[in-house]
Amino acid sequence: MVDSVSADERSRIMKSVKSKGSKLENIVTKAIWNSGLRFRRNVTDLPGKPDVAIKKYKVVIFIDSCFWHGCSEHCRVPKSNINYWLSKIKRNKEKDLEISNFYKAHDWKILRIWEHQIKNNQEAVIKDIVSFLKSAKANP
Ligand SMILES: [Zn+2]
Repeated sequence: MVDSVSADERSRIMKSVKSKGSKLENIVTKAIWNSGLRFRRNVTDLPGKPDVAIKKYKVVIFIDSCFWHGCSEHCRVPKSNINYWLSKIKRNKEKDLEISNFYKAHDWKILRIWEHQIKNNQEAVIKDIVSFLKSAKANP
């Protein structure tokens, strides 16, 4: 399909969405790190570039932004160029599913966290992630 969103508009939207998402991500990953767990961030040599990964224990975590990953509650596509955004987000969702299936098929432990879960209850999410990683370490 034709990309009819102006470059300016697209970069403006992407910037605002990305900076918000990465701030939340930083808070969460810092807290996990402070709990004593060691992991890598934004691991480019694993499918889907997981936000958090420990290869040794075959464990990955994805933090999905409500916008880019098409959260059913919070994804509000811009009114202009709606088809562009809808198809882009649809593709992202399909990719997410493929990636999740890849890890499951290869016996990795995978956790997907929505951005809104962090917004709603940061501490609970951090607790969940820490216990998820610890149990992955304990049962490799
Ligand atoms: Zn959401």
